[in-house]
Amino acid sequence: MRATEDTYRHKGLRRKLVETVRSKGITDERILTAIENIPRHFFLDSAFDEVAYEDKAFPIDAGQTISQPYTVAYQTQLLEVKPHEKVLEIGTGSAYQACVLAEIGAKVFTIERQKKLFDSNKQFLFLKKYPNIKFFYGDGYEGLPTYAPFDKVLITAAAPVVPVKLITQLKPGGMMVIPFGGGDVQVMKRLIKQQDGSVKEEVYDRFSFVPMLQGKND
Ligand code: SAH
Repeated sequence: MRATEDTYRHKGLRRKLVETVRSKGITDERILTAIENIPRHFFLDSAFDEVAYEDKAFPIDAGQTISQPYTVAYQTQLLEVKPHEKVLEIGTGSAYQACVLAEIGAKVFTIERQKKLFDSNKQFLFLKKYPNIKFFYGDGYEGLPTYAPFDKVLITAAAPVVPVKLITQLKPGGMMVIPFGGGDVQVMKRLIKQQDGSVKEEVYDRFSFVPMLQGKND
């Protein structure tokens, strides 16, 4: 069961979480405001109410996780999202990251391969607040050719390879943020698609994500 009540206590814990994320090096105020505005405890089972505002990843259904707030902020900051940009997210999971993108004004297209998580988000009333998020059940490796091209692509699962179709679906000048690597630890990369279609690569810090898997799981 999800919590649906947002109390003063939750709001206070959220302000502390914002200061924690800021102290770790996040400077984009739009992202910090989004974290302050979004009731993260709504995205978890009510059993996690006491810990929902710790800067940690937690389990959700289908053996998946809601990313750590710092990680969400870090990826979002690297993506340099501007209002009204089209952003493709791979790995909807809890939908928390999608809401952060929506709060800063992006048009979000998010794909999840676990049917259970996709269905659960359909029932999640809080998400009605964000008509700028479109939810898809499918394989993120395929992207969304019908809605391409995108300004930005954000992958929130550990990718053992760079998904080529997602590079194709990126606009020239567009960026992809991708936790790259097949092992337990990945390196965050930012790939910038050049006007000639080639890709420039930047390497950032190490993180640990659940794997980006092929195909759908019903
Ligand atoms: N962005 C999420 C993070 C969820 S963890 C959040 O804010 O909570 C990563 C998610 O990626 C999992 O839900 C997993 O099922 C999903 N995933 C893994 N491989 C995928 C693929 N090929 N296509 C779509 N989603 C995928």
